[in-house]
Formats: sequence, C-alpha cells, structure tokens
Amino acid sequence: MDVADVPEVPEWLVGHLHEQGIEELYPPQAEAVERGVTRGESLVASVPTASGKTLVATMAMLSAVESRGGMALYIVPLRALASEKRAEFEAFERYGLDVGVTTGNYESDGGWLAGKDIVVATSEKVDSLARNDAPWLGELSCVVADEVHLVDDAERGPTLEVTLATLGRLNPDLQTVALSATVGNAAELAAWLDADLVDSTWRPIELRKGVHYGDALHLEDGSQQRLAVRPSEDQAAAVVRDTLEEGGSTLVFVNSRRNAESAARRLGATTEAALTADEKRDLESLAAEIREVSDTDTSDDLAAAVERGAAFHHAGLARDHRQLVEEAFRDRLVKVVCATPTLAAGVNTPARRVVVRDWRRYDGSVGGMQPLSVLEVHQMMGRAGRPGRDPYGEAVLLAGGHDELDELFERYVWAEPEPVESKLAAEPALRTHALATVASGFARSREELLAFFEGTLYAEQTADRAHLELVTDQVVEYLLANDFLERADGLAATNLGHTVSRLYLDPMSAAEILDGLRSLDGDPTALGLYHLVCRTPDMYELYLRSGDQERYTELHYEREAELLGTAPSEFDDAFEDWLAGLKTARLLEDWASELDEDELAERYQVGPGDIRGKVDAAQWLLGAAESLAAELDLGVGTAIRRARQRVEHGVRAELVELAEVRGVGRKRARRLFEAGIETPADLRGAEKPVVLAALRNRPNTAQTVLENAGHPDPEMDDVEPDPAVRADETGGGANGSDGGAEGQSNLGDF
Ligand code: ADP
Repeated sequence: MDVADVPEVPEWLVGHLHEQGIEELYPPQAEAVERGVTRGESLVASVPTASGKTLVATMAMLSAVESRGGMALYIVPLRALASEKRAEFEAFERYGLDVGVTTGNYESDGGWLAGKDIVVATSEKVDSLARNDAPWLGELSCVVADEVHLVDDAERGPTLEVTLATLGRLNPDLQTVALSATVGNAAELAAWLDADLVDSTWRPIELRKGVHYGDALHLEDGSQQRLAVRPSEDQAAAVVRDTLEEGGSTLVFVNSRRNAESAARRLGATTEAALTADEKRDLESLAAEIREVSDTDTSDDLAAAVERGAAFHHAGLARDHRQLVEEAFRDRLVKVVCATPTLAAGVNTPARRVVVRDWRRYDGSVGGMQPLSVLEVHQMMGRAGRPGRDPYGEAVLLAGGHDELDELFERYVWAEPEPVESKLAAEPALRTHALATVASGFARSREELLAFFEGTLYAEQTADRAHLELVTDQVVEYLLANDFLERADGLAATNLGHTVSRLYLDPMSAAEILDGLRSLDGDPTALGLYHLVCRTPDMYELYLRSGDQERYTELHYEREAELLGTAPSEFDDAFEDWLAGLKTARLLEDWASELDEDELAERYQVGPGDIRGKVDAAQWLLGAAESLAAELDLGVGTAIRRARQRVEHGVRAELVELAEVRGVGRKRARRLFEAGIETPADLRGAEKPVVLAALRNRPNTAQTVLENAGHPDPEMDDVEPDPAVRADETGGGANGSDGGAEGQSNLGDF
C-alpha cells in the first residue's frame, strides 16, 4: 500500500514519511490500515522487532487527533524510552501538534497536560494520574500500549493491565492500539482488548539464527560456517572480528550495565585493529563530543571505548550519550555496541550481526541466575540485519560446550515465544489495585469491582468466574479488616485507604507498618524501624545462609526490645521470615553506621547493586511510614524521619545535616565532623585551611562544598591546608579514593 492511500491521516504525513524514505507500507502496516487502525478500530499488532510497529501507532494517533479530536496517549514501558519517543513525536510539532511527556513524580494530576495532542507516559505514571483524578484522562480518543507483552512481567505487568482497563472504562469509545513482540497468544490479547489482530512474522529483512560453538557457526537451517576463535580472543571477539572482515557491525547483548562496559573495553582491542586512519580521526572527535556531555567516569569510559571503535549502551547513560552512540553505530563508525537488553529492545539500532552473549541474568527474587525468556532472546535477535544494506541478518548465541550447543538450539533457536500470562491474580497486585480502584472511585461496590476486573486480561484468561469472585472477596475482606475500606452504601476508601493508595504501597505493607507503629511505647530505634519496613512485602529480604539462622536468632534475643510488633514463635515458619527481615535491617543499620561499602558487601555477601536496592526501598518505605504515622497522629514522625535520613545518606545521626549539603555525602561529612565542623552552619563559617585539610587537600572539592554550604568566600586559591587537621587517608570510600565527581555515598550503579 502506498503511504498516500492511507485514509483519515493528516495530509502532511505523506510528505513527512517521504522525507524519511518511506513510500510503501510494510505488509503488517498495510494490514493494520485495512483493519481500520486509522478509522478508530482497536488493534493488537503482534509483529517481530524492527518491522515498523511505531508507524502503526503513529498512523492511529494522528488519525485520532485529526479526524476525531481528543488526545492520544502513548504508554511506554520504561522511563528511558519516554524521551526516545518524545524526540520522535516532537517532529510533528512543526505541523502544529502539541506533544507532552510525563514520567516523574507520582503525586500530581498532571494538569498541564490537558490540551496536548499526544502525551507520552509510563504505565505507572498513568496509573498514578488516575489515582489522583487527572481529568484529561477522560478525554482520550486513542491509547497506544507499547511492548504490551510486558503484562506478563510479575512486577510491572499488573499495573499496565489495570491501567488499560481503567482507561477503557473512563473512555467508552477509546481506541486501543497494543504493540507486541511475537508472542504465543496474540489472539488472547486481542480478545481481552476487544481488538482486531494483526499477527505476523513478516520481517523487512531475513533473519538467520544460530549458535557459535568451537570453530563454527551452526545455523538453524543445519548449515555451518567456519568461524575460528584465535588464541588471544574470546568467542564474542571472534564473531566481532569475523563480522568486521565482511564489513559489518555487531550488537552484543550482555546481562548488566557493568558487563556492557567491560565488554566494550575488551572488544575495543578487536575493533581498533580494523580502523582506517579516517575512522580513527572521526572517532576521536566523537569521543571529544562524548566527554563534552558530562564530566563523569561513565562519560570518560564511554569516550575511551569509542576512540577504539567500540561502545556500550544502557539505561544508565545520559540521553545525549545514547544518541551519539546510536547515530555513530548507524553510520558504521562505531563497529560494536555492547548493550543491556532492557533498553535496546526499544531502540532502533540494527546491526549486521547480533550476539546474545549472556542468556542468563541475575534475578533478585530467586537469588540466582535465571535464563531469559524465549521472547526476550528473540527480541534481541530481531535487531540483526539492516534493511536495504545487508543481504540478511544473523543472530547468534555462544555455547561453551556441546551440551550447551544443543540446549541453546532447543531453548531458543527452535523455540516458539511463550504465551503472555496475567500476573494480576498474585495477591499483592490484586490487593493494591482493588484498593486503588475503589479509592479513585472507579468502583463503589463489590459488583462494580468485579465488573472492573472483568475488563482485565486476568479475567480473559480465567474461565472460572467463581475463582475471581472468591479472591476479590478475600481481598476486600482484608482491606475492610485493616480499615483501608469501609462499607458505606457499598464500598468506599477510608482516609487511611486513600493515603495508602496515593503512597503506592502494597496495602499489606501498610498494615504491617501501622501494626508495628501502633505497638510502640516511646520512640523507636533505627533498627526497630528498619526491621519493620524490611518485613513488608514491598522489600526483598536478604536470604538466610548457613549459620545465619543461629546468628540472627541470637541477635533477635539480644535486641528484642527494639523490634516492633509481635514476633512469631521460634517454632513457627514465619520466624524465618522475621530473621531474614532482621538480617536485612542489620545491613541497613550497618550502612547507616558508616560501615564501608566493600565491608558490607563482604559481610552480607551482596553486590553494590543489592545494597543500593535495599537502601532505595527502605528510604521509600520509611517515607511512607512517616506519612502513615502522621495520618494516625502517632507522634513518632521525627524518629522515623531521622532513621530515613540516616539510611539515605548512610551516616550516623550526628552527620545527617552535614551530609545533606550537596557534594558532601557520608565520607566527607565524617571527615569534616572530625575536624570540628559539625553542622552546615559551622561549614558556612568555617576556616578554609581546616576545610581543605579535612577534604584531603582537594581545593576544587573544598570550594564546591563551601559554595553549596553558602560560605561567604569559598575561593580556595592560595589556601594551605591546616597541618593540625589529620584527614584519615585510608577510609576513602569503596574504591579507596575520594576523587569521584558525584558525592561519595555512591553505591555501585546498575
Ligand atoms: P519496531 O517498533 O517494530 O521495532 P520501528 O517502528 O522502530 O520497529 O521501525 C524500524 C525501522 O523501520 C525504523 O527505522 C522505521 O523508520 C523503518 N520503517 C518503518 N516502516 C517502514 C516502511 N514502511 N518502509 C521503510 N521503512 C520503514
């Protein structure tokens, strides 16, 4: 179908597409148009990666705005993708459309978005807007759900599912366009959304999947290509070199940000050897541009890799960095990009070859490595092959042994993607969304609540209505018993229930916290509060390892007086959970007592990312505890706030104020304190030689800190460190140095 023949879209679209070299619709796109996607018909498009799903969504949104008035909402699965999509849709502003993006804080109604034509948001954001009564949510004519197969995700899926159900209820004539990777049960998704289906395996370029093992690439059609690994290389490097010899570039998928960075560093040796003098020059100027973007270690590392023709790409990069990398990769200047799967799924960076290096990933909920799903691996593989440039794309996994070769063929190459399954019935999700649904007025009775759940994928997939009624009743009973709901001519949320819903807490976490706080007699200790929030279902507890049972049982008896609520009996199964909470709380207490990060990592056998995760969750839950305590007038707000601030900065109580000064952080706060500077006021009026010595003779740091504290004369020129101040040279943060640009309470970033 010629793009000029698409009905109901604005006239300018044809020219706009021509500018991008798009003349003809791809077959799945044409099918979508034939099924009425530009005439307001709902549609599920289940199509392989890189087959032009975005254009399907664009045509739907533009026709909705152009022909039917109202707004279009584009739901992205990740915050980082919101800015990608904004950039894409902002191109329409020159034709008079108004585009907005909202991702941030969860407690506003986003009133400024009213009147926009296209809004881009995450599903969590839309869910919270609905909880905060954003009026414009009732004025939508079209909603797009990108990567809708993520309803399968245990953590975030239920929110997406409920959000789509909510929007459908708010807007009875809403057009829903759901974009999905190829999944096992696309028809079920379409039935749920009352939508037509385009289910296609068409790709703009042929894809050959295979596994590399030994000195050969084994392809799915049974053929083999020689691809020898040299003694100095690993398998990934051999594939990258082989691709380079054919003039192509490679996308390597790994399982963490750190691995992406280290793989790029290593593969730089392979790419560097193949660069021409011109390319080297261009890469040098690209590296300089990258360094310009920001003054961080990541920026330096990226620039260093890029100079050698390799790059990494993950959600931790600045947006400008990502764009520079993507562009240079498309221009074939950067020869290899090492990426994490999460982000790369949504970014358009085709390559001649894709290597899926890591097919297992750390999963905190099981405490170990887990294989990726077929769907995820196929999505990564789908990035292989650049339409119009390559004859075909190749996507390979790497096997270390013959058994693994067989396993990878079975598991991924020949396998069909899994069906997606609703995770809403998981009790935490159902509790949370039942409360939110009543609190935001979408349901005022048991019957309305059931009717609401009828609109979910869960109901679609559960033939047994009696079961849905049963679990809904159980959840409602639970919410009533905990005073989050009350019977008032049907069902209504109490004030407490409204607070819990707005705080975005699992109601069971709220109940646990309230129960603990109510049991208090006097001020709680930090450990008591940490233990309280660590026991909630919103915190992943640390695992008890061998010996821990005994160790923490002992600690439990030692500090029993500090622990809130009623401990289960030592012979009860729940006691183990109590101890796991205690272990986690103890980690937080150690962190908030200024224990070094590497010591923590060793003591608890966790990585920096795990510590960061616990600290973030504790901070959020303690903030929520503070709000709940205020709601009940419990008068312990100050103690909770203090405990939260200590966790936030990783310091003892006496350092909290000082650590809050920007650029100070836990290590520097301690050094300043030792030098007699105990408060921000002290810092404002401090003697500069003392500050300089305490900050280990780093004039730039000292000046910045003084500026941030509001010192009248922060200038450090010609200041000499006070010899009477001894700055401890060994306690210099996780990596033994204090030269980092961004504060020093930085836990490893994942
Ligand atoms: P998906 O979302 O399915 O992964 P994209 O929407 O990102 O795929 O599209 C992949 C690429 O294909 C984009 O660069 C896009 O511009 C291009 N494209 C989309 N539709 C067409 C078309 N009909 N003709 C040529 N190129 C197209």
